[in-house]
Amino acid sequence: MNRAIPDKKAFWSQIDWVLLDMDGTLLDKYFDDYFWETLVPQKYAEKYGLSVQEAKEELMRFYRREEGTLNWTDLDFWSKKLNLDIPALKEQIKHLISVHPYVEDFLCFLRQQQKKTALVTNAHYKSLALKMRQTRLDHHFDHIICAFDIGLPKEDKEFWFKLQQRLKFDPNRTLFIDDSEPPLLAAKEAGIKYLFFKSKANSKLPPKLPLNGFKSISSFKELM
Ligand SMILES: [Mg+2]
Repeated sequence: MNRAIPDKKAFWSQIDWVLLDMDGTLLDKYFDDYFWETLVPQKYAEKYGLSVQEAKEELMRFYRREEGTLNWTDLDFWSKKLNLDIPALKEQIKHLISVHPYVEDFLCFLRQQQKKTALVTNAHYKSLALKMRQTRLDHHFDHIICAFDIGLPKEDKEFWFKLQQRLKFDPNRTLFIDDSEPPLLAAKEAGIKYLFFKSKANSKLPPKLPLNGFKSISSFKELM
């Protein structure tokens, strides 16, 4: 049974635009979690002569301070702050970048249904470029929007107004899907009508439950 959309045909007739987050939504968040929670602490510990546990604690404090800001995804910010070559480290484990099941089928489905599509991400240009090189998902989208283009993160309501001005979508006929709730809340405040939480972000972890009453999907299979 699909609780997100009981009548698929009726649902899709109300949608013109589909906005999709990248990390965790289209791509397996395992890559990002492994990168920030395992690889970076290892390299940071080696560099500063700390135990991995000490490095993790210090990094978690840094990470928490930047959550929800553009610094959080700014690879140049972290390279400078940690004195590590973050883009080069990402490159080393790029084989771990993978697309969630049914994503490509879903993107083809959207094309067949003649929906307008945009990938909408807080990811830094360098992450975005690496991920698109690895996955080739960029070919499926009409638009690719990075928060750095707008100058605000998706957690900021103004981001959505600026995006709307840029893409000219009707918020009443737009669907946005994200594995993180703060961007969904900001999009809701900005008037975007259809909002789904992607519960399965990291393939190695159980699905998360949405805390703010959003409809949730664990796989795009549920929407086709
Ligand atoms: Mg995400």
